[in-house]
Amino acid sequence: MNKEIKSIRGMHDYFPKDLKIWNHIETILKEVLTSYCYLEIRLPLLEKTEIFKRAIGHVTDVVEKEMYSFNDRKGNSLTLRPEGTVGCVRAIIQNHSLHKKNNRFWYLGPMFRYERPQKGRYRQFHQLGAEVFGLDREDIDLEMILLTNRLWKRMGIDSYLTLEINSIGSKTDRFQYKKKLVLFLEKYQNLLDQDCKRRLYTNPLRILDTKNIEIQKILEKAPLLTEYINLSSHNHFKNLCSMISSYGIQYKHNKKLVRGLDYYNNTVFEWKSNKIGSKDAICAGGRYDSLIEEMGGPKTPAIGFAIGIERLVLLIQSLKIFSENIQDIDIYIIFIGEHNKCHALNLSEEIRNLHPRLKIFINFFDQNLKKKIKNAINSSARIAILIGDNEIEKECFLVKDLKKEKEFYLSKTQLIVQVKDFF
Ligand code: ATP
Ligand code: MG
Repeated sequence: MNKEIKSIRGMHDYFPKDLKIWNHIETILKEVLTSYCYLEIRLPLLEKTEIFKRAIGHVTDVVEKEMYSFNDRKGNSLTLRPEGTVGCVRAIIQNHSLHKKNNRFWYLGPMFRYERPQKGRYRQFHQLGAEVFGLDREDIDLEMILLTNRLWKRMGIDSYLTLEINSIGSKTDRFQYKKKLVLFLEKYQNLLDQDCKRRLYTNPLRILDTKNIEIQKILEKAPLLTEYINLSSHNHFKNLCSMISSYGIQYKHNKKLVRGLDYYNNTVFEWKSNKIGSKDAICAGGRYDSLIEEMGGPKTPAIGFAIGIERLVLLIQSLKIFSENIQDIDIYIIFIGEHNKCHALNLSEEIRNLHPRLKIFINFFDQNLKKKIKNAINSSARIAILIGDNEIEKECFLVKDLKKEKEFYLSKTQLIVQVKDFF
């Protein structure tokens, strides 16, 4: 029996039609990041498994059950990156890039997590990540919020996203708080679901993040992390909140907001939308002031965020604010007879020399003239150019204005110069 060849579950193909919106988003992302002087960095998809285990945390969901890890031919354990920060920090330390004057970076690419695929959650998904090294004051936290807010404005989706922020303090604060939280939750142990029971002694903070409404009710009476936060973290957060307000950005202080990866401290934030179902976080970020040192680098504060591109695409599609009618073809060239193919090629090359942005399509298919003209009309092209023996003899081309449904002859020189007037 012939087995159908299929892609891996949760990993998708993206065709040109899908990629129009992707390219639109990527253009805005790059423009805005550049306007804040972030520099692009490209990193490997594979890293040693060990660095993710150490940095993300052995008892996090990502490391416990979501990583794609395997041994290479020499028996070294490698992992397809589940996120970008760890690889970025590894690269910055390895390439001694921390002393640079500008330590603002961004990257865009696929991440891999073995999760249950559903709307907004895939096994291969794409993140735009941004990281800033060497700044510990709240100014840079603010600038990141301003940057992401500007992204949503440029995309026309700012009124559909809300900002939630919190401070998770220092490791010591969380250690003290965890003890209190566990003591509290132990009283309700038999009411917890499987996931929360498992997390109770491994990663109790993540229970705060539960989607289970019954457990959310229990948590209403739970001790609050905010009350365990040291003075300096508290002030950092207070200043940040008042600066965000002074820029007119609305936010919600979500006292239960935590992050799924262990390396965060102080500021954490998420931009959420209620338009994309329960997978509502489009962008998530926070500070990770001790990660660089823990990974063997010099003591350096840092902050970053990551945007889930698929979720951004879902949001923009659900709002129907993106028009997919982008021209694929501007000029459609039809030659009649194999021996005229070279004239079509020469003409297209000459037009491109003068007008490099025009999209010129030569129909190389083995089709009759009627079919070729029909295809030209059905394409997005503004004009079609016909090249047959007649035209070559008269030293001019038949130009069909497909919008005004008119046609006329132009010499090659006239055509090359005047063609721009159509666009
Ligand atoms: P979630 O709570 O939704 O699982 P997370 O805390 O695991 O998110 P991060 O590791 O902070 O997510 O990743 C940042 C962003 O990347 C998320 O806000 C989301 O937009 C996107 N993202 C994360 N996991 C996936 C996935 N499996 N598929 C699609 N997008 C994802
Ligand atoms: Mg997750």
